Amino acid sequence: MTYIIEKEFCCYCGINMDNLPEGVTYTKDHLVPKCKGGNDSIENKKTCCSDCNSEKGSRNLKQYLLFLNKEYNKLKQHELNYSQALKSLIYKIEIKIFNAEYWLYYTQTAGIKLYRNQQTYNQWKY
Ligand SMILES: [Zn+2]
Repeated sequence: MTYIIEKEFCCYCGINMDNLPEGVTYTKDHLVPKCKGGNDSIENKKTCCSDCNSEKGSRNLKQYLLFLNKEYNKLKQHELNYSQALKSLIYKIEIKIFNAEYWLYYTQTAGIKLYRNQQTYNQWKY
């Protein structure tokens, strides 16, 4: 008998949950926060690192996307003197925006999955 071990990744930053840095823990995020009417179904509870979970807080996905885009634009203002650290921070936010857009669509369409656009890869095909 073969067991398929499904690796779990943070639903926003994509970090491997088996390999979390010190101080970051395994949590579940409510895509629609409980305080905004979200429930405990598996469709609404996704694996999430504690960093992203506390960053999202009680925001819904639209609010979280607004927040991420603001942060992204702030960092982009320093474009002329990009350090490696800044570059990886920007890259991480790009991933979070990409994934939060996915989950927003997912919650709005009752779980219809999106597929990556194979040509551009960083866009969703609706
Ligand atoms: Zn995360």
